[in-house]
Amino acid sequence: ATRIVLAKRPIGTPDDDCFRTETVSLGEPADGQVLVKTRYLSVDPYMRGRMNDVKSYVPPYRLDEPISGGAICEVVASRASHLQPGDLVLTQTGWQTHALVAAEKASKLDPVPQPVTLALGLLGMTGLTAYFGLIDICDPKPGQTIVVSGAAGAVGMVVGQIGKILGCRVVGIAGSDEKNRYLTDEIGFDASVNYKSPTFYEDLKKACPDGVDVYFDNVGGPVTDAVMKQINDFARISVCGQISLYNLSEPDVGPRIAPILLTRKAKMQGFIVGDYHTRFPEGMAQLSKWYTEGRLKSQETIIKGFDRTIEAFLGLFTGINTGKLIVEVE
Ligand code: NDP
Repeated sequence: ATRIVLAKRPIGTPDDDCFRTETVSLGEPADGQVLVKTRYLSVDPYMRGRMNDVKSYVPPYRLDEPISGGAICEVVASRASHLQPGDLVLTQTGWQTHALVAAEKASKLDPVPQPVTLALGLLGMTGLTAYFGLIDICDPKPGQTIVVSGAAGAVGMVVGQIGKILGCRVVGIAGSDEKNRYLTDEIGFDASVNYKSPTFYEDLKKACPDGVDVYFDNVGGPVTDAVMKQINDFARISVCGQISLYNLSEPDVGPRIAPILLTRKAKMQGFIVGDYHTRFPEGMAQLSKWYTEGRLKSQETIIKGFDRTIEAFLGLFTGINTGKLIVEVE
């Protein structure tokens, strides 16, 4: 098996020295194990946080161990009665071409979604994050204005579409004119603005003539500071991610937002999708229904080649992706 391990903890933006690609031999599966071959692996912003040696909701990656994360794998050999060679499973094997895993940690994709990559995107963690983070935390009402940052990314694009299904006005924020055009012309957003434009603040204001009732935050930093100035009374703010801060080597100091929350009587709440695991079946059923009805569209950026995994991961921070970023292991 070829695998990518964490060689050094990054300070700031990770560089190639932080990773090492190595080859190991795996042997045969033991009783209750399966040998899997990775077909598609997920690269996710949260992985950057796990590269730091700090306390969080998941333990940090260990040095010299493979970067773990979601992957769609094919069973090659099995010593578990419910899994057969050829079965496709969702596992947490991460950045490795093959792995031995405990069968109970490999969930069989049955039925296999079409395309199978939906299991890492719209019909996986991405879709569930959008669903619970928007519906549970923000309680959007028809006619209200939702702003979503990271709007052309995996989670953001689903948030906006669910907002439209619920009858809201949806305004996206993304990092290129092309992405913003895609969101309004193809995905159904009412408006979308470029945070890299010198007129960002005015553009955002224009796009939200009635203020902001719901803000779904994927990025934090100056983008969020701009949105916070425009929230309405009783706004709900879901803190899903803060990607603009993940590579900072020094803590960021921004405007203090507590006075805004106070005077607007607004509610801001962080959440971690894994805490909703008992409600995953509900979320999956609803997302699948909307997808089958054609009301939710899936968008993925697929990078071909295991040797491009690090490049793909770092691309999350420069915005190479539209929709869910996935590596196809060839
Ligand atoms: P995305 O597909 O959205 O990829 C990341 C995107 O972030 C890029 O495409 C880029 O788009 C944008 N971005 C990168 N750097 C910056 C920056 N400095 N300022 C503004 N935008 C930036 O990733 P995901 O959909 O997987 O994740 C989105 C967010 O949700 C992340 O913050 C992630 O950590 C969080 N998350 C949280 C979960 C939870 O349980 N709370 C679960 C899953 C994800 P652009 O071109 O627009 O800059």
